[in-house]
Amino acid sequence: MFEIKTYPEFSWSLSRHKTLTHCARQYAHQYYTAHNGWLRQASETSKHAYRLKNITNLEMYFGSAVHALIDNIIENYLDTGYIPSENELTEKIRADLNQGFIEAIKYGDKWFQKPNKSTMLHELYYGNTKKLPADKIAKIKERLQVTMPHFLKSKTLNEFAYNDKVEFLEAEKFRILHIGNVKVYVVLDLLYRDLNRDKWVIVDWKTGKQTAEDPYQLALYALYLLQSYPIPSYTDIVIRNEYLVEGTSIEHQLDPVALEKVQELIGSSVEWMNEYVEDVPSNQPLPLESFPKREDQRACHFCNFYELCFPS
Ligand code: SF4
Repeated sequence: MFEIKTYPEFSWSLSRHKTLTHCARQYAHQYYTAHNGWLRQASETSKHAYRLKNITNLEMYFGSAVHALIDNIIENYLDTGYIPSENELTEKIRADLNQGFIEAIKYGDKWFQKPNKSTMLHELYYGNTKKLPADKIAKIKERLQVTMPHFLKSKTLNEFAYNDKVEFLEAEKFRILHIGNVKVYVVLDLLYRDLNRDKWVIVDWKTGKQTAEDPYQLALYALYLLQSYPIPSYTDIVIRNEYLVEGTSIEHQLDPVALEKVQELIGSSVEWMNEYVEDVPSNQPLPLESFPKREDQRACHFCNFYELCFPS
């Protein structure tokens, strides 16, 4: 039975760590204030934070549409052996973008009532407008032109498709990894076995730029693999980022140092997060005032929780 918990269960993820690094107040709203905000009897503040938490922006919406489409292509390919054309795929993303835009423009009430079932774009909500900024439209159009052609030419698709020496294992599933007594959530975009080279291949599709955290994310996935599959050695794992906007594929060298580093990061990050809780077992947070706002407020204009921090 679904149990209502006063405080959210603690779990670690790289995005949680990045949020705390960015702003402690944002971290508080994202992981604590918004908790239970979907319940009718929740406080107005929780409902408000939950709504804001569910706002997306054009780049993120585009990224989710691409991920969902690729997942769908792979699933269909496994059933039918068919891969749609570049044009068909680009049009599908374009239709998804239009759908999100229409939802955000026309059905703001639906989003207000059920924020996780509808779309609201940061650009429209905080821009207080029904028009998307021209520079953002141009940026997304550019990405739209190149992403699917790059996917179809990607190293991964060329290795994975029409190759009977490849065994599909999983894609886009929520998985749990245990590091000590900490639960860590991971979602692998794609995992398969290359039987020719006898390698386990982890792929992460990226629709943004390269970042310093990308190798950490992949090392985390590798830890999950080592815990969950009978893999003799880390040297049997290939970890690969496919940057779909740039059209590049980068494989990272997995070594014991990288695996140790990511575990150290989790350990120190959990300690840091524990400084913000009253009680570790129940994950009861400190009062909101204990989560400082960012000093440099230039990034605040891009934050979902802006109106909670700076009410007009
Ligand atoms: S608006 Fe600024 S201070 Fe407030 S949560 Fe967002 S980033 Fe932090």
